[in-house]
Amino acid sequence: MKLVLKYGGTSISSAKDIQNVAKHIRSLSKQNHLVIVCSAISDTTDDLIEISQSIKKENKKKAEQLAKNIGKRHQKLAKETIKKTSIRKKLLQTYDEYFTELTALIDGMVLLGEVTPRSMDYLFSFGERLSIQLISAAINDLGKKSIALTGKEVGIVTDSNFGESKPLMDTTRLRVSKTLDSVFLKKTIPVIGGFVGADQHGHVTTFGRGGSDYSATIIGSCIKADEIWLMSDVDGLMTADPKIVKNAKLLEEVSYVEAIEMAMFGAKQIHPRTFEPLLAKKIPMKIRSSLNVENEGTQVTSSPSISVRNTVKCVSNVSHNGLIDIRGGSMIGTPGTAAKIFATLANAGINVMMISQNPSESSITIVVKNKDLDKAVNKLEMELLGKIIKKLEITTDMAIIALIGSGMRGTVGVASKVFGAMQKNKVNVSMITQGSSELNLAFVVKNSDAKTAVQALHNEFELSNIN
Ligand code: ASP
Ligand code: MG
Repeated sequence: MKLVLKYGGTSISSAKDIQNVAKHIRSLSKQNHLVIVCSAISDTTDDLIEISQSIKKENKKKAEQLAKNIGKRHQKLAKETIKKTSIRKKLLQTYDEYFTELTALIDGMVLLGEVTPRSMDYLFSFGERLSIQLISAAINDLGKKSIALTGKEVGIVTDSNFGESKPLMDTTRLRVSKTLDSVFLKKTIPVIGGFVGADQHGHVTTFGRGGSDYSATIIGSCIKADEIWLMSDVDGLMTADPKIVKNAKLLEEVSYVEAIEMAMFGAKQIHPRTFEPLLAKKIPMKIRSSLNVENEGTQVTSSPSISVRNTVKCVSNVSHNGLIDIRGGSMIGTPGTAAKIFATLANAGINVMMISQNPSESSITIVVKNKDLDKAVNKLEMELLGKIIKKLEITTDMAIIALIGSGMRGTVGVASKVFGAMQKNKVNVSMITQGSSELNLAFVVKNSDAKTAVQALHNEFELSNIN
């Protein structure tokens, strides 16, 4: 089989975990063509982001200190992980070179006083540049040939939308398959840095937070992989957050569309575009734990078995959101009202998570993250209050509860079960949405009611008996 294995940062953050990962790769490589995709080691991307913020605040000392910490962390891991002296020495030398470059980059950014999306992407790319050297060295250490390649080196070409780029798939497909074919011919295991590509001018770009998942599926689609495994520290997708629901169960099989809905919510956050490259080629994906390789995890496919198709899969929640109720008599029957509201929010870079409008058209309710609430309200007031909007009513600290699963489609009585369960548990519902795909029924409650609501739905739909 041609397999793409993507490791998240938490799977490769200690010497022992890295050695286990390398052993697992070695054993899988006996029967399969492998491509490894890695995230940065835990906390590294967060630190790199903090470096950029420190430079913005002209705090050079802090930026340098953070860079030093990243350096120390990787050197320590290199020393603890790699047993063969020659391999370890070479790795440490590469790390020295990267740190000279990182320090020079920070100097340059401080000197210019310029933190542009382009320079940030270059800065953030260091996380994966560092991790792939270590994982590739760990595979070498076991006597297997391996090469570390950045997203740019393997041939991922993107647009120039720094911080949130998208791949140019036709060019990428040609380049990636050519690079990897020649690596396979040499019986070498490629370890590729996730999250990063380069635009047509060769400038380094990133896909946004969590983008290594996306890199894995882009590469998988380019080489027509048989399967893609997302390896992390969770066993797979669950029927609910196990921190809230004690008897939450692992889901054995879900469809792409369900996984897309779950990716936005559940405990296992997956980059939202991850599934796009898989859809056309119908490449199956597994979500598995690197700490528990005996467990098969969750299988994500284009057409799950019939018994799986007809079920509600999970109940998930996202807390700490703000709800804005936008009202005004002149909104009624006025084309363009919604367009103006959403354009105002879009121009301010605010992501809207939920939208609802009743047919009287006298109000539109939206949900945004708590952290965006101030800005959203401010922009709406400045640009639209007294014009199309008469009043804004705001509620903070709200949780979105979502029931997800294709089994809801065309099934009579789901809503009655959901809201009956809320009534029994005395949970007030502030807003409801359900798209006509009927894959996801979501509603909003107070943060303090979120746990009760999740547990009640998990019981009501008997999700602990799912498999
Ligand atoms: N290292 C990047 C991040 O932390 C990408 C990833 O982990 O998927 O967001
Ligand atoms: Mg991730």
